[in-house]
Amino acid sequence: MRRKIVVANWKMHGCLAVNLRLFEGYKQKLAALSHTDFVVCVPYPYLAQAQLQLQGTHIAWGAQNLAKYPEGAFTGEVSASMLRDFECQFVILGHSERSTAYCESGENIADKFMMAKSVGLTPILCVGETLQERESGVMERVIAEQLDYLLQTRGAEVFADSIISYEPIWAIGTGLSASPDQAQSMHEFIRGRIAKQHSSAAEGLRIIYGGSVNPSNASKLLCMPDVDGALVGRCSLSVEEFSAICEAAGQIQV
Ligand code: PEP
Repeated sequence: MRRKIVVANWKMHGCLAVNLRLFEGYKQKLAALSHTDFVVCVPYPYLAQAQLQLQGTHIAWGAQNLAKYPEGAFTGEVSASMLRDFECQFVILGHSERSTAYCESGENIADKFMMAKSVGLTPILCVGETLQERESGVMERVIAEQLDYLLQTRGAEVFADSIISYEPIWAIGTGLSASPDQAQSMHEFIRGRIAKQHSSAAEGLRIIYGGSVNPSNASKLLCMPDVDGALVGRCSLSVEEFSAICEAAGQIQV
C-alpha cells in the first residue's frame, strides 16, 4: 500500500521570521496526522533552520535542486552530500520553473536524479506538459519522453523508492488545476510505462500531483487511485491552506 505524501515547495519565498511562523504552524496543525508523510522543500539557506525546527517531528525537509557533480569548482552550486549534511531526505528535480528559466536538459535532470540516489536522498522528479502540448493531444508522448531519459539509460528500477510529480506546466501557479480525471489518467499512464519494465517498482512508486492544489480541490484529486499525494506551491505559504490540504490527504485511507 502506498502512503500519501504531501510536499510543500516554498520556491524562492521566505525569511527567518516568516519561516519560523510556518514551521510552528505546520508542527501544530500536522501533529495528529500520522497516516500521511509530509515534506517541506525550502531554499538552500534555510536548510539549517528546517533541520533545527523539524528534527524529532514527523515532517521531513528537502531542497529544490542539487548539482550533478559530487564536488569541485562549480561556483554557486550545492552538492547532494551538502544536502545530507543538513539531514535532507528529499530533493525536487526538474521543476518546470528551473527547466524553463535555466534551460535544464533531460540528461542533466537524469544525472541529478542518480546523484541524489547515490547519497540516499529521495528524488521528486517533476514531469509535465505545456498547454499547447495538451491541447494538441501529445501530452502522453511528452511525458514519456521526459521519463525515457531515465528509463532507457538507467532502467525502471531507479524509480523504486523515488517519487514522480506530475505537474502540468499550465497548472503551476495559475489557479487552473488539472481535473481529477486528467490527473488520474496521466498518473496511470506514468505507472503503466514504468510497469512495462519493472512491475514492482511501478507498484511502489508514489506519483504525486502538482499544479494549483488548494483546500477546495485537494480531496477530489487525492482520492484518485493513482494520485499518491500532492506537491503544493502557493498554498504551502499559508499554514491554514497547507494544513487543510494535508488533512484532506490524511482522511483518505489507502
Ligand atoms: C509547484 O511549485 O510545484 C506548484 C505546483 O505550485 P502551485 O501549487 O503554486 O501551482
